[in-house]
Amino acid sequence: MLGIGIDIGGTNTKLVVVNRAGKLLAQERFRTEAARGAASFVKRLSGYVSAFKRDYGRQLVSVGIGAAGDVDPARGVLRFSPNLAWRNVKLAGPLEKLTGLPCTMENDANMAAWGAYEIELKRKHDNVLAITLGTGIGSGLIIDGKLYHGADGSAGEAGHLKVQPGGRPCHCGALGCLEAYCGSYSIMARARELIKNEAAFVKKYAAPGRERFNTICLTNGAAAGHAAARKVWAETGQYLGMGLAGLILLLNPGCIVLTGGVSRAKRWFFPAMEKVLRSQQIKTPFNRVKIKVSEDADLGSHGAALFGLEKALK
Ligand SMILES: [Zn+2]
Repeated sequence: MLGIGIDIGGTNTKLVVVNRAGKLLAQERFRTEAARGAASFVKRLSGYVSAFKRDYGRQLVSVGIGAAGDVDPARGVLRFSPNLAWRNVKLAGPLEKLTGLPCTMENDANMAAWGAYEIELKRKHDNVLAITLGTGIGSGLIIDGKLYHGADGSAGEAGHLKVQPGGRPCHCGALGCLEAYCGSYSIMARARELIKNEAAFVKKYAAPGRERFNTICLTNGAAAGHAAARKVWAETGQYLGMGLAGLILLLNPGCIVLTGGVSRAKRWFFPAMEKVLRSQQIKTPFNRVKIKVSEDADLGSHGAALFGLEKALK
């Protein structure tokens, strides 16, 4: 029995086919290109899902979707996505119709949390917080071994916790959100303020053939000892520490799993983040919590596939 997992992110959409043990059998990826509109996206996505259906036929029993934004899991609707700029997009229904398979839809970070719980931690921790650090910031909660939805399915919008009154603008429209300091677009906006000669920086630190001013380039700059690049990462760590401290105080998780492209810069933001966590005065939850960076770049799509299978086979 196999499940399709789909992770819809601000930049890319990933699809996988996995078995119940989480073994990967097939994968695809395409650019989300949210600006082309939701209808175009659903059409392109359907093409990939149909191809899987042709290849695996009746072995497929479920489709699980994780989408970047505020999801209504009961109706399979993406209510609002700041980074895709979509509102009220129906996704689960059209895919159920196309495949004839039950389709679950959840927030992408919720699915990364499920992937962390099942694959990364092998259910050894019952209270897990996953934070996705990418264009935006998401979070998902496993509480007592169950995915926590809250009253409306909106639980875990940690990226929009306020860390600075009247602070920088966030993609959601508010000011001072955690994402407005630690989302990749915010990190690079801060880098533009501090690094005056962007072209020279890119020339020196970007990977050959990928001459772009992005977080990878900024990480390379930090590794080479560039003071402003290191300062940007230290500030990122400080704000992330503030966000995590609040979440740890609230939830007392056994493990926090960080995932997403920005988490690759761990070495440069961890020290400042850990300093904030060490400075907290209620010590118990901070002494206990393990914070790790996932090695699995596809936790969201794998988690979505396993979550879909779990629901379908219950
Ligand atoms: Zn926000």
